[in-house]
Amino acid sequence: MTSEVARHLLFQSHMPTKTTCPSSQVSDDEQKQKRENTRSLTMSGHVGFESLPDQLVNRSIQQGFCFNILCVGETGIGKSTLIDTLFNTNFADHESSHFFPHVRLKAQTYELHESNVRLKLTIVNTVGFGDQINKEESYQPVVDYIDAQFEAYLQEELKIKRSLFNYHDSRIHVCLYFISPTGHSLKTLDLLTMKSLDSKVNIIPVIAKADIISKAELQKFKIKLMSELVSSGVQIYQFPTDDETIAKINASMNGHLPFAVVGSMDEVKIGNKMVKARQYPWGVVQVENENHSDFVKLREMLICTNMEDLREQTHTRHYELYRRCKLEEMGFTDVGPENKPLSLQETYEAKRHEFYGERQRKEEEMKQMFVQRVKEKEAILKEAERELQAKFEHLKRVHQEERMKLEEKRRLLEEEIIAFSKKKATSEIYQNQSYMASGSNLKKDKDRKK
Ligand code: GDP
Repeated sequence: MTSEVARHLLFQSHMPTKTTCPSSQVSDDEQKQKRENTRSLTMSGHVGFESLPDQLVNRSIQQGFCFNILCVGETGIGKSTLIDTLFNTNFADHESSHFFPHVRLKAQTYELHESNVRLKLTIVNTVGFGDQINKEESYQPVVDYIDAQFEAYLQEELKIKRSLFNYHDSRIHVCLYFISPTGHSLKTLDLLTMKSLDSKVNIIPVIAKADIISKAELQKFKIKLMSELVSSGVQIYQFPTDDETIAKINASMNGHLPFAVVGSMDEVKIGNKMVKARQYPWGVVQVENENHSDFVKLREMLICTNMEDLREQTHTRHYELYRRCKLEEMGFTDVGPENKPLSLQETYEAKRHEFYGERQRKEEEMKQMFVQRVKEKEAILKEAERELQAKFEHLKRVHQEERMKLEEKRRLLEEEIIAFSKKKATSEIYQNQSYMASGSNLKKDKDRKK
């Protein structure tokens, strides 16, 4: 087992990334140049670096491994039972209801030990998946969850003070996609979900509860599912065939996909052995019997043979794609104009330059807008002032006219008063005269009477 781990570790530490990037031509040329500059020598004695694989194995064992499985499938399709059966333990996942309003992703991490190897296993379950009327509501939370784990890792990588060594990597390494054993075809939800996940995660489709479908129907169903996946352009995980030690088994297992599985933690006595099985009135379905189900194939491929490749594919293919898109979205690029390689520093300078230019343009735009606004406001104020002035002039004129009218009235009134006073004075004189005249007449009468 140790040599197997060493082989993987060496392969991982020396393997170039499989993703293609725009600058691949440039780096290929550079690598060719470097190879030509490297001379191969033979040593005359033992040096000791042959122990490098063992050093790596020891360090990895000390560090422990981490593996994250996402189970996507309808409620009650047998996800928890299969995971329990795969890892031969009871993860005590509670039965979930069909009545959740939204799909929720529930992650639970466990620490498992086998011999001296520690495995930090995270099982992520899609609670309520397939119970929504709107299909998008079912798969979007799954997509978002996977992206969120990539984002968390990217943020850790971008930190100045990184702690990737003891970082709990929560990126999903494999998605076990549970298909109902209908014998018909894939549901729209299955196709939509797998299509939106295939560039983000390694998908291994499994036909759940394979014991409820006949052997002949199962074969036809498998062929139909694969042709539907191919015609819809869904990329499922292919067991790698580039390593000759496992190429043959992996190639043959690729031909068995999707695996038809049966899960059970119940034990039944067969002969004198206790085996995991499902007991029915008409017989017993043995989980690990390859004539009854593909469970052993799945366990072998998932855990024993390809766990490291799944982890590696997650990092070099899916995470790399996420990271590349994210960095490109942020404006980083490997090549500048005319396809010249661009360093991070140059990209940063160019971005800063672009940012300052943009800021200046915005400032200028704002200034112009401000001046324009001020002009508009000034024009409005001037118009209001002009209107007020006109109103004032009008009122002043009215007031003047009014005053002149009043002046005229006063003058007439004063003339009337003068005329009246004159009349009054004349009448008083006249009155006095008549009074005096009547007084002298009265005296004459009196004198006569005497
Ligand atoms: P989950 O909601 O998808 O996690 O489903 P569970 O694992 O809780 O299983 C729901 C029911 O299906 C339980 O009664 C299981 O015993 C049963 N079940 C699980 N696996 C199988 C299987 O392979 N075949 C059959 N016939 N039933 C199964």
